[in-house]
Amino acid sequence: MIDEKSKNLLSFFESIMDSFYVIGENYVVEYMSDSMTAQFGPGVGKKCHELLHHSEEICSWCRAPEVFAGKGVRWEQHVAGVDRTFDLVEFPLKNSDGSVSKITFFRDITEQVKAEERMRASEEDYRRLFEHVGCGVFISTKEGKFLDANQALLDMLGYESKEEFLKINIAKDLYLRFEDRRRFQQMIEKDGRVIDFEVEFKRKDGTPIPILLTGHARYDQHGEIVGYEGINVDLSQRRHMERELEEAHDFLNKLVMSSPNAIIATDLKGEIIIWNRAAREALGYSAEEVLGKMNISQIYPEGVAKQVMKMMRAPEYGGPGRLLSYPIVYVRRDGKIIEGNLSAAIIYDARGEEMATVGIFVDLKERLEMESKLRNTQEQLLQSEKLAAMGRLTSQIAHELNNPLYGIMNTLELLKSEVPPQSKRRKILEMALSETVRLTDLLKKMLSFSKPDEEEKQPVDINIILDEILLLVRKQLHENSIKVSTSLDEGLAKVYASKNQLRQVFLNMISNARDAMPDGGTLTINTKSIRDNIHIEVADTGVGIREEHINKIFDAFFTTKDGTKGVGLGLSVCYGFIKEHGGDIRVSSKKGEGTTFTIILPKYQDKAP
Ligand code: ADP
Repeated sequence: MIDEKSKNLLSFFESIMDSFYVIGENYVVEYMSDSMTAQFGPGVGKKCHELLHHSEEICSWCRAPEVFAGKGVRWEQHVAGVDRTFDLVEFPLKNSDGSVSKITFFRDITEQVKAEERMRASEEDYRRLFEHVGCGVFISTKEGKFLDANQALLDMLGYESKEEFLKINIAKDLYLRFEDRRRFQQMIEKDGRVIDFEVEFKRKDGTPIPILLTGHARYDQHGEIVGYEGINVDLSQRRHMERELEEAHDFLNKLVMSSPNAIIATDLKGEIIIWNRAAREALGYSAEEVLGKMNISQIYPEGVAKQVMKMMRAPEYGGPGRLLSYPIVYVRRDGKIIEGNLSAAIIYDARGEEMATVGIFVDLKERLEMESKLRNTQEQLLQSEKLAAMGRLTSQIAHELNNPLYGIMNTLELLKSEVPPQSKRRKILEMALSETVRLTDLLKKMLSFSKPDEEEKQPVDINIILDEILLLVRKQLHENSIKVSTSLDEGLAKVYASKNQLRQVFLNMISNARDAMPDGGTLTINTKSIRDNIHIEVADTGVGIREEHINKIFDAFFTTKDGTKGVGLGLSVCYGFIKEHGGDIRVSSKKGEGTTFTIILPKYQDKAP
């Protein structure tokens, strides 16, 4: 039984402790503090386990008294509709009658437990974040040792264990360049933090790794910096992607730039943002002149740009947002109009809003020109076939005429011998005879010009060929008010050549000279011997060749003549022939003064005695 002394003690406890009760032997509650009664209801006289959890069985701590053994026991119980946690402490209470009661203190630690739990949870959260954040997190000393690092940082830098990592010397083993560490320290000491510092670290195996480092200084209680903490982001992947992106961009750029068709893109205001090489060639403006400086409307005739935009938005020209192969004209930089086909499209952003336009322009000029050149070449071929047929006919006629002409000549010679020299008739006869001689001469040249088997090379006297040709063209040149002046080296060595081809070369040179002198002039033809070669100069006083054309005149299809007049094959064929003969053609020209072509051919070295 609780005695008076104990009662005094209990009332003292009551004033300082919140809840407690006293049980006697057989677990019967002898006393309950007020707050205990308030929480569990009146219980004096009841068994304590009945009071606490309405059970016949005694509580675990009473069943195993060593549980208390001088320490508190944590007890969780649903009390008055709320989960509560108590800290139970038990002491023996000796009564004066010799019996021993037990006093058990119930300290309600529900709030404390909750706070502890919150703390643990938030600590766990931070730890989880630290470990799983996906980038390397570290805490280091100012002197250059890691105090902690997460797994991601170890993985990033190739270390197997944290223990090993915490031993490394940051300045020496981590930084690829020592001065980077110094710079990082200077910045962090000055501002207390460093944001997005790009640096290269070393992995454990020594290979470099690009890192984006963001860190803060750590301070002691006196505000002195003691270390740093922060995150490291591995930039290798980003660098790799940047490189890939750059390469893809570069490739696309090259694709656009090297397209044989003009590719032009504009923003929605019509400002030009892409202008490739073919656009420059077709329209004459360089990229520097147009990008960010010109509007697409400036390369269309007035009003056409708007019309093109309208057609692109309409459904009937290839679907909305597209324009398929539509005939269009542009205005070149020099004001000339060029024709072609335009295929264009509107480019939409991710939300489906219009953001730019792109157009591919196929310049038809070259195709049209090529078609006309082909037509001309065909016509020329036809012409040359006709000429060949005529040549054959001429040769037949010449043959047919030859015999009767010789007959006439002989007859005239016979007659001449019968007419005395003083006679008037004799003069007439001689005139007739000299005309027949001229006629046979002409026939001879006609025959040699059109002989069919001339392709075979043979020793050829260039002077004779030039004579024959001049005989044929002199009249025509005269009609064009062109004077002919020749200076042929009489002792000129022969060349080993195809007569037909050489004729063609000289004829082409002469007809080019004629074309270059539409208002007349002088054609000078010289032959001379220089060392092992002979040089044939064909010079005119014509319009001359522009400097920028001089390297192109031997190209096939290069011509400055319009319409059907020239196809640009003449000089290229001549060049081929002369090269095939082991020779060369040179040209010198001055605009407005004239042109001189020099044909060089090796001398024929006759080894025969
Ligand atoms: P085509 O006569 O059909 O134009 P060519 O190959 O013979 O072809 O000549 C090519 C170009 O070279 C001519 O269109 C012309 O511009 C230039 N050319 C050739 N000869 C002369 C010349 N004597 N004077 C000026 N230009 C010439």
